[in-house]
Amino acid sequence: MALWYISVGGEQRGPYPTEQLRQMIAEASLPPDAFAWRDGMAQWQPLSQLELGPPQLPPLSSLPPPGPPGPPPNPAMFPCRGCGRPIHLSAVACPHCGAVNEHHPGYSPTDKRILIAFVLCFFLGGLGMHRFYVGKWGTAILMIVTLAGLGIWWLVDMIIIATGNFTDRDGNKITVWL
Ligand SMILES: [Zn+2]
Repeated sequence: MALWYISVGGEQRGPYPTEQLRQMIAEASLPPDAFAWRDGMAQWQPLSQLELGPPQLPPLSSLPPPGPPGPPPNPAMFPCRGCGRPIHLSAVACPHCGAVNEHHPGYSPTDKRILIAFVLCFFLGGLGMHRFYVGKWGTAILMIVTLAGLGIWWLVDMIIIATGNFTDRDGNKITVWL
């Protein structure tokens, strides 16, 4: 830290640290015709022309104590797209307005439902009806032609549907039962 010497009417005072000199100037406790010098300056300068630089930040200990900590932001909360209230990541639907939670890991934009596909597959799987239902017409017809893979395809589809891994025409998993 720079140390300043002050000359008042030929009498030398100091040294003072920068902050103290700044305070003395601010309090006008030095006469206006005083001069200041610090190591590295070519000559004494009038106080009025002195450049002290930006004030130092007060030490941390003198800062006011921080207020009570608020609740930490919860990264698992999202605003509901229906009502805007925060809902948890794990909620399938908003508990306030019932809107589907699109941040849920199992969220799928499909409007197809497991129960419908499963019932169709269970009773009419041999006719590929569950595949017609989700828009997979090509494989639905193939299913009829192959007699549902002689029953094996029918069984496999039923398991895939029930475990929430069946996909619609656009490849969206059908994860919602009702
Ligand atoms: Zn909501």
